[in-house]
Amino acid sequence: MIYLDHNATTPLAPAVIAAMLPVMSGVWANTSSQHGPGQEAKRRLAGERATVARLLGCKPAEVIFTSGATEANHLAVRGLLAGAPANRQRVLFGSVEHAGHLRLARALAAAGVQVDYLPVHPDGTLDLAAAQALIGPDVALVSLMAANNETGVLMPVADVAAWAHAAGAVMHVDATQFIGKQVFDFATCGADAVSLSAHKFQGPKGIGALLLRQGVPLLPQTLGSQERGRRGGTENLPGIVGLAAALEALGDITAQAKRIAALRDRLERGLQAALPDTHVWCQGAARLPGTSCLRFGQLSEEVVLQRLDRLQVAASSGAACSSGGSAPSHVLTAMGVSADEALATVRFSLGAGTTVEDVNYLLRELPPLLAPLLCEDLLSAP
Ligand code: PMP
Repeated sequence: MIYLDHNATTPLAPAVIAAMLPVMSGVWANTSSQHGPGQEAKRRLAGERATVARLLGCKPAEVIFTSGATEANHLAVRGLLAGAPANRQRVLFGSVEHAGHLRLARALAAAGVQVDYLPVHPDGTLDLAAAQALIGPDVALVSLMAANNETGVLMPVADVAAWAHAAGAVMHVDATQFIGKQVFDFATCGADAVSLSAHKFQGPKGIGALLLRQGVPLLPQTLGSQERGRRGGTENLPGIVGLAAALEALGDITAQAKRIAALRDRLERGLQAALPDTHVWCQGAARLPGTSCLRFGQLSEEVVLQRLDRLQVAASSGAACSSGGSAPSHVLTAMGVSADEALATVRFSLGAGTTVEDVNYLLRELPPLLAPLLCEDLLSAP
């Protein structure tokens, strides 16, 4: 099977499995226990926290381990909003945030919070002028993703953070798709809070973190003594070890990004040459190196994914969490794309395991399967 769905999740790196196994069998005591094994687990946790902090450019006290990015996003938005002054209760969300995050936005709005959305241009990039105009003195918090999971488009989080800070607001960044694929440094990224998730960069599922700048007020959403009282619940030490090992195993991110971008460009150019009806969304925008969101004429995603399945290629019709439904992607819709075109869109996401042979296979096998369908499609067009 050729796996081209790395934005949904990634396989565990061998170094991650090697690091986790001895912890699962040998360091299983509760980090809050006073006995020897508990204290050993506590020391191990402190060591892993220091490693994560060093690799992400923050202080150990700025790392709050969570069950993943969804929880980190919720903790950031609800916790920072609760920590904001009473005269600042408006929240700005990116309009193309992850589907789970937009559910939170709608839940807040339903509960009476004033929520506004930062729009994007038709090429998927953030509308900077609109964003700047929306950030006012009543804003508590701006929550914007660093990179979009469907199109791969990078968002200007440092610029938006600067405007948020000038207006007295705090800035949260969902960097779930960014960390591991692009060089990241918390100290210089401009944000006050950053969410990440290990399973997007060959770590385990169910573990992530919220990085929170020291001194920024945040009210916990699960009460307990762990994580300095900011996130209660017994720590998932094997997961945390896996998260640290996955970050450690990333190696030279710039070189890997260059390799993957070259493969993605080869795939896109090859498909466009073989099937001229191929349209790549956001092709001209600054994007994550491995993400390709495209449509073949008006061929429905079901038809294309069926053919890919026949070729034993795993791809996606968009975000894994929202695919499977018949609703057009909210990301493409926010860009002004029609429902028909959105429902004809598939996403390839390349990653560490993708090879030039994988791309060549797809370029050789997919066009002959789709070309006759595209001809029929043209003939049946009104
Ligand atoms: N934000 C973004 C941008 C994502 O792509 C995802 C994962 N699909 C999440 C948040 C949720 O992450 P998790 O699976 O760790 O809860």
